[in-house]
Amino acid sequence: MEELSPWMDLAELPADPPEMRQVCAECGRPSVVCWCSSLPEVPLKIKSRVIILQHPAEEKRCLRTAPMLQRGLAEGKCLVFRGKKFPQNKHEGLADILRMSNTILLYPSKDAVDLETVPKVDSEENGYNIVIIDGTWPQAKGIYNNAPILHGIKQVKLLVKNKSEYVIRSQPTDGCLSTLETATEALSVLESVDYRSTLLQPLRALCCYQLNHGAVIHDSTDFRIKTNTYPRRLGKRLNKFLKEFN
Ligand SMILES: [Zn+2]
Repeated sequence: MEELSPWMDLAELPADPPEMRQVCAECGRPSVVCWCSSLPEVPLKIKSRVIILQHPAEEKRCLRTAPMLQRGLAEGKCLVFRGKKFPQNKHEGLADILRMSNTILLYPSKDAVDLETVPKVDSEENGYNIVIIDGTWPQAKGIYNNAPILHGIKQVKLLVKNKSEYVIRSQPTDGCLSTLETATEALSVLESVDYRSTLLQPLRALCCYQLNHGAVIHDSTDFRIKTNTYPRRLGKRLNKFLKEFN
């Protein structure tokens, strides 16, 4: 038994010291700002599918909401395609989806109809493919203008009553929603189910954390420019603050 003792000693040694900044393996964010515990317990089996056309720059942003949506929805219910032009050869299956008759595009063109006027979904068979462009306004416009296939899709718009919950990320105009909020709102209207209380939880948790740690609620850029209250230094400071968590 004596010979075993060195090994026993070794076993007593502490494991590697914890890393200074632990990162969640699921969402890739530092543990303190991980939103995984706010995801729905079981990914939601919606009747429709959400198709996200994502500008490459969006993936690099500090605050992204598409992953929250993707993980909140059941397998195959949220498809993300990345690029500046759509569809490309690498976007497997996308061209077919964009040609389906049950595909709608959430984009506020002049021909877009109010989402409320679109027939509701009552079974998986008549679910929609809801296409959303993920990026800033100029990026979204660029993607739309460069993709003729999108012009032929039925276009719908959300008439937003509530201000975005995503208060940290400055919105170009009031009523502009994050991708997660846009999808949640559209699904809730089309499927007559209130998905807000479940799908928006990760976003609420993240905003709550950041507000409690010094971030400032942004009025929309538009508002600030009009009222001449645009805080020039805030952008830099907030950016620095947010980068620390990315
Ligand atoms: Zn996480």
